[in-house]
Amino acid sequence: MGDTAEWGDDAFIVRIHTDNGLIGIGESDSCPAVLKAIIETPSSHSTCKGLREILLGENPLDIERLWRKMFEQTSYMGRRGAVIHAISAVDIALWDIAGKHFGVPVYQLLGGKLRDDIEAYGTFIPRDVPCENSEVAAGMVDAGLRLLKLGGGNFGIDPQHDHTVMRYVRDSVGPDVELAVDLVYRWKNFPNAKKQAEKLYEFDLAWIEEPIPADDHIGLRRLSQAISVNVSGGECLATFAEFEEFVQETSPDIIQPDITRCGGITEMRRIYQLATRHSCRLVPHGFSTGILLAATSQFLASVPNGELIEYSNSTSPLATGLVANHLPLVNGRVTVSDAPGLGLVLNEDFISRYGVEMNFSGRMLNGFR
Ligand code: MG
Repeated sequence: MGDTAEWGDDAFIVRIHTDNGLIGIGESDSCPAVLKAIIETPSSHSTCKGLREILLGENPLDIERLWRKMFEQTSYMGRRGAVIHAISAVDIALWDIAGKHFGVPVYQLLGGKLRDDIEAYGTFIPRDVPCENSEVAAGMVDAGLRLLKLGGGNFGIDPQHDHTVMRYVRDSVGPDVELAVDLVYRWKNFPNAKKQAEKLYEFDLAWIEEPIPADDHIGLRRLSQAISVNVSGGECLATFAEFEEFVQETSPDIIQPDITRCGGITEMRRIYQLATRHSCRLVPHGFSTGILLAATSQFLASVPNGELIEYSNSTSPLATGLVANHLPLVNGRVTVSDAPGLGLVLNEDFISRYGVEMNFSGRMLNGFR
């Protein structure tokens, strides 16, 4: 993309074409050039293959079998991180194909719809000038949102600044709107985080998200036990295995898998079962395009505890412009689409304007140069 935005400057979109003319759409909120390479790379050996080569000629309806095949045949370079992000995008596209093939929405394939719409919470990156956040928060409440989360930007660096921002936001929305904060790992460690968290008690927070560095699981467990606010995390984790380790070692109150990174709809279903076995609430992360929003809403519609969905308030054009029929916020809720598959119509003009061609020739070098 040529423009810059406060967040979400790019998006990785996959379109899978079947031989009978169906097109499945998927996304990963990750690094596009890396993921494109993971799909297009020529294979090195049996456990180091490109996803395109793994999938060509296969039956796209064999979603679970293909998930395992992709996982196993990339295991030398994958199992976590970017490869699982790429598999997530493919997996979402395969569910879209299956829904279109059978003429039903994805939630039908997941077992049926438990709700027609889902309560949304709104996320925004706070403005640097604290008082400007009063207006941002008020606008989101006017849109019907009853829970707001803020994080990123300059938040989490200077405690006094954070406190001032929170004061403006709380005073703006009043006592009945819930507030959450996202520290994006910025508090240093358990003692520091405990001190900072206690300073925010007066704002009656719904949760504190990713307060300390990602791999400090012992510190996060201590924090969760020491403070009276719910602790959440997990948007950067991929696979059931990583979530299982995270849940067992940190005892979070809320886990936040991103359906475009954790392994797609297929792996999200397994992670949901993990959450229910550990009294964890699952509130998916979602701060990208309408593809992510559609996939997340189809999944949440199908599970008993799928009552809350994240709704991006990003100013990036990608947040609402990529999908022509972007799911709108209606009285603070997202309506679940009943169209086949994910029900997405992409805005082709938008893609022409912002699309970037990245070519990987795939040629092997004949020698050192
Ligand atoms: Mg977050």
